[in-house]
Amino acid sequence: MRLLATEEQASRLRVHPVLVLSTAEGLPPEERDRLEVAFGAVVREVYGCTESGYSAYGCGQGWLHLLQDWVIIEPVDADYRPVPPGTVSHTVLLTNLANRVQPIIRYDVGDRVLVRPDPCPCGDPAPAIRVQGRASDVLTFPAADGQGEVKVPPLALGTVVDRTPGWHCSRSSRPHPQACR
Ligand SMILES: [Zn+2]
Repeated sequence: MRLLATEEQASRLRVHPVLVLSTAEGLPPEERDRLEVAFGAVVREVYGCTESGYSAYGCGQGWLHLLQDWVIIEPVDADYRPVPPGTVSHTVLLTNLANRVQPIIRYDVGDRVLVRPDPCPCGDPAPAIRVQGRASDVLTFPAADGQGEVKVPPLALGTVVDRTPGWHCSRSSRPHPQACR
């Protein structure tokens, strides 16, 4: 999305979205502001993982509100003891309430979560969280013609690595959650 915003700002992209929705990786506030200006659209985040589907949706105040009828989220410390609202957790345990075929109960997601201790100003009564989860860098290479640079999104590289026998990407190895082995 950051690459697309840069292309839009350079007038090389002609799209007119009403809503820009970010998922999979956290969106820093300054990037959210830049995306809103570049696309002239509302920018929101959703939070989830393969084991849960979407677990939370972003509000205009920059918080993620839990979908409480779909998931239970338990922020815990390194010894899996609950941490109170207002404290950043070591990890988070997720229970999927909707998947009756393959129950997912207290699955260690590996993301650090902060639960807002007071009501969110947006008025949504669902618990509001912030997530420090997966974050990958855009790779920058010199252009083949020696002029300028070529930026490669991490997903493009990860897809190639995942299809290479003997190699895989894992979310579980901190402090580099997306490290490839
Ligand atoms: Zn809110």
